[in-house]
Amino acid sequence: MSRFFSKKYSSLVPYTPGEQPKDMQYIKLNTNESPFPPSEKAIKAAGEMAKTLQLYSDPECRVLAEKLAEALGVDYSEVLCTNGSDEILNFAFMAYCDDDHPAAFADITYGFYTVFAQINNVPYIEIPLKDDFTIDANDYIGINKTIFIANPNAPTGIALSREKIEEIIKSNPNNIVVIDEAYVDFGGESCVPLIKKYDNLIVTGTFSKSRSMAGARLGFGVASAKLIQDMNTIKYSTNPYNINRMTMAAGVGALEDKEYFENNCKYIIETRKYTVEKLTELGFETLPSSTNFVFTKHPTVSGQKIYEELKSAGILVRHFTKEKICQYNRITIGTKEQMDALLSKLSEIVK
Ligand code: PMP
Repeated sequence: MSRFFSKKYSSLVPYTPGEQPKDMQYIKLNTNESPFPPSEKAIKAAGEMAKTLQLYSDPECRVLAEKLAEALGVDYSEVLCTNGSDEILNFAFMAYCDDDHPAAFADITYGFYTVFAQINNVPYIEIPLKDDFTIDANDYIGINKTIFIANPNAPTGIALSREKIEEIIKSNPNNIVVIDEAYVDFGGESCVPLIKKYDNLIVTGTFSKSRSMAGARLGFGVASAKLIQDMNTIKYSTNPYNINRMTMAAGVGALEDKEYFENNCKYIIETRKYTVEKLTELGFETLPSSTNFVFTKHPTVSGQKIYEELKSAGILVRHFTKEKICQYNRITIGTKEQMDALLSKLSEIVK
């Protein structure tokens, strides 16, 4: 830290992204990316748009937001596109959390929530998951805090029903509830339809996983027009051109290729089922996943050892050191061939 760094950030612990080592070619199953390239329509549209990069992007993101609103069954005024869903999550922390509205989220969930709380100087509480790693909706009933729930949750992969989420939203009418649906397309139940019914709900989503566009940085929020207006105030006060022209074009292209999107999601869900069955045969215990990853542990070989041995064999998975989950590894579902390479190595490791 330099002597110039503001005191207000001196104790900030930044988010640690999944490692991206360059020392060799890895089978990368550590950051929940898609194993497939973006849709051809997205690639082509982005390439065309590259020819006009001398111009700023549309700050209203009009064409993309309209297309997205149509796909989600909401109005254009109820959508805000952002630079990855990380950006809309940060906007929500900035707009709806303060000393009177502390943040609340699970103790085991997306690691960025604590960082957003810290950088925005917002008090927060972490609510323990149940022993089976599920969220107990009762813990969130009428808690009078700004609630963040990843649904399905990460890194557990476990989904909560829309019915349970609705109970939480209903019981906190004077607080914002943010449902982070980064992984919803792989088997979760989206809460987007509920935004018409509840003015305190924000649903966030991303093109990073199911639409194979992690590197383009495209996310979005869906909420009542008033909430979108609030978050636009934050956006226009930080980065009005938050989505670049190529990403906007790629986003439109991706939305126009529904078939590719649906086939890829179907492939991942089938490959997940296959992977879980094979893991079970090897003695692994895997949490029920509704995402493009599995969270799994072996009864006798430690999570750390499995992570290290896989890495030295050229396979990267994500290991967390937090005590409650350090026996586990989070493994992204890739192609069937990648999963077979993983399973074959795992069978050697646990022998
Ligand atoms: N939410 C969750 C639960 C995630 O795992 C991620 C991916 N790291 C994100 C949000 C953010 O994804 P992105 O910014 O790529 O949309």
